[in-house]
Amino acid sequence: MPRPIRATIDLAALRHNLARARAQAGARKVWAVVKANAYGHGLERAVRAFAAADGLALLDLDEAQRARDAGWRKPILLLEGFFEPRDLDAVDALELSTVVHQNAQVEMLAAHRPRRAIDVYVKLDTGMRRLGFGSDAMQAVARLQSLPHVRVAALATHLANADRTTPGMADVAEQLRAFAAAANGWRGAVSLANSAALFLRPEVGGDSVRPGIALYGGTPRAGAPAAQLGLRPAMRLRSRLLEVRQLNRGDAVGYGSRWIAPRPTRIGVVACGYADGYPRVAPDGTPVWVDGQIVPLAGRVSMDMITVDLANASHAQVGAEVELWGEHVPIDDVAERAGTVGYELMCALARRVAVDEIG
Ligand SMILES: *Cc1c(COP(=O)(O)O)cnc(C)c1O
Repeated sequence: MPRPIRATIDLAALRHNLARARAQAGARKVWAVVKANAYGHGLERAVRAFAAADGLALLDLDEAQRARDAGWRKPILLLEGFFEPRDLDAVDALELSTVVHQNAQVEMLAAHRPRRAIDVYVKLDTGMRRLGFGSDAMQAVARLQSLPHVRVAALATHLANADRTTPGMADVAEQLRAFAAAANGWRGAVSLANSAALFLRPEVGGDSVRPGIALYGGTPRAGAPAAQLGLRPAMRLRSRLLEVRQLNRGDAVGYGSRWIAPRPTRIGVVACGYADGYPRVAPDGTPVWVDGQIVPLAGRVSMDMITVDLANASHAQVGAEVELWGEHVPIDDVAERAGTVGYELMCALARRVAVDEIG
């Protein structure tokens, strides 16, 4: 029998979440963001589940190739653009649309002789301070528009704080003002919203939206449950109890003897560790579902095992079903305990975990 840990990807949940995003988007086009192997859910699965999206957005040429191989015929947008001149051959061959965020890319495009016109999304930096043009944006647009084989399809930017209001920091309104200033004179399409803006900031408009996390059923805002936004978890991580043992008061569990039994209790050993993608930094008390009960993590996460206090699940025996995250334990709850976000846990699902799919 294989090690009992496995992930289940719910294609119906992916389709449902896309429909939710579509409802939020109104008339705007929806790019389904599928970078990082569809946030750990499997690119080919996402290609099938997101058939109703207007396009896919991702980063890697090999993922673009995989999406085409899986039969995706609609647009594919490279969110970081291309990195060197020969990448443009793949942009041609795979008929990709691309972000352009720096002059070096403009010059590579100018030197390129493609088979067909390339759709370009010009990225503006309006407060994120990573990639994008600033006050020079419209010069770049003019240069791109002078190239016969380039079509400037839209101007785009990425929001730093659509999930919060942080006084004194680049907030949404400030970034929208910076966008309007830098895009002075632009009459064409714009793309602004990630999941947080799409679900939480109705004032952020645009012509296309780029949801990622929401499509997978994760919350775009820490503390706001995804279920409240009408989203369903698409990834379930499940395993079983490998061992159950009786402890006396004062018995220590696991590396560093972090957890010490405060009373006589039973401890359960779960076949799941950080080498499966469970966060090693998860503290005691992180919720784990065992055979119908939520029980607390007790002791440090090891490479292949975690331990839980079964005081509230006295019926649980070796072989009992465990859910690490999914239906009973929102992935965002585990992430919050571990000081991170659902995004990171999804992306960190380890290759050694077998994946099946439903829906
Ligand atoms: C990853 C990414 C998104 C999706 O962000 P979510 O928070 O997952 O919705 C949107 N736009 C760009 C440019 C991205 O890189």
